[in-house]
Amino acid sequence: MAQTTILRPQEAADLGWLLEQQTPDRITDTHWQTRGVCAQTDPEAYFPDKGDSVKHAQKVCGGCEVRAQCLTWALSTDERYGVWGGHTEAARSRMRKQWKNTVEAGGSDPADGQR
Ligand code: SF4
Repeated sequence: MAQTTILRPQEAADLGWLLEQQTPDRITDTHWQTRGVCAQTDPEAYFPDKGDSVKHAQKVCGGCEVRAQCLTWALSTDERYGVWGGHTEAARSRMRKQWKNTVEAGGSDPADGQR
């Protein structure tokens, strides 16, 4: 029997939001990383030591214009470290399986064109 991952409410909400965000202009955007708010802030906040808070990074991500691209990148490349798109690696691990299943069911990878 397949193991089911239960997403937390914010993870489920953001996963739904992310899939809705994948419009063609976003998919072909190859320069999203230069527009991330984190490029102008302390990068260590996004790669905290074990036990350190990620709340500040998550708050900044919440107002970032490229959050959809960032989260798509992290999910599609299996990024294991840091905060991406407002989610920790533990949250992304829970989201990843459902995201990949949805993308594969649709027959395309929304990260195509971002790499
Ligand atoms: S969503 Fe967060 S981690 Fe991603 S580019 Fe924006 S500020 Fe940086």
